[in-house]
Amino acid sequence: MKKKTLVLLLAMSMIFTFALGACSKSGGSGGDEGGDDATLKVVTEATFAPFEFTEDGSEEIVGFDVDMMNAIAEDQGLKIEWVNMEFDSLIPALESDQGDIICAGMNKLAGDRAEKADFGETYFESDLMLLVAADSDLSGIDAVTSDMKLASQIGTTGGDMVQEMAKEGKIAEGIVLNQWTDCYMQLQNGDVQGVIVDKPVGEAYLKAHSDIAKFAGDKFGDHEEFAFAVKKGNTELLDKLNTGLANLKESGKYDELVDKWFS
Ligand code: GLN
Repeated sequence: MKKKTLVLLLAMSMIFTFALGACSKSGGSGGDEGGDDATLKVVTEATFAPFEFTEDGSEEIVGFDVDMMNAIAEDQGLKIEWVNMEFDSLIPALESDQGDIICAGMNKLAGDRAEKADFGETYFESDLMLLVAADSDLSGIDAVTSDMKLASQIGTTGGDMVQEMAKEGKIAEGIVLNQWTDCYMQLQNGDVQGVIVDKPVGEAYLKAHSDIAKFAGDKFGDHEEFAFAVKKGNTELLDKLNTGLANLKESGKYDELVDKWFS
């Protein structure tokens, strides 16, 4: 009798051990689930032309960041898909495993971002500018008065700046909106006297709207370094992205994309 019980207990412990091992293999966070061939979610905010934007009512996201990250993914054998969301949802998306990579013209030097996500090598540099109506006599950011309103996008360096300026009483109101296109509309309608925007993005806007808007003054605020980001601790993925970017620069593909989107 005793022998039978022993064999039964041994068999049960072997089954239990096997089952435990099988569960841990299917675990993992973010893009790891399902093994190496999982599709990674690249999260972005697609009203930031020429980095990421949609055109003529299409859902398709295009732009420099899209071409660059697609080329990096191809170089590194990664499967990616693009997910459009509000800018201030991007880092929370990494933290909650709703996204695997941020590629959104995000300044890696700003605020506490680097405490919440791991940023890669810089892929573009920028500064902030003030966009005003073409007939405005505002000479620059230092000439704004306390009766004025400025707009920018929520959660961005420009958005933080207009809110800070309002808090300090430098302007009457700092309006932060979800989409850059809404900020431009506020300027066109005369609802705000200026929009704080990233220089290359303002330049893209002025290419098509120099009849109704212009830059006032020179760059201001902190110099920006755009970088992609991954969830804190995901060094394996970040190394792949950094290697892919280095390969793009080495092969000339990076310069080709800069010419395509910024010449
Ligand atoms: N470069 C700015 C930032 O990092 C704006 C980015 C954006 O609007 N996509 O906050």
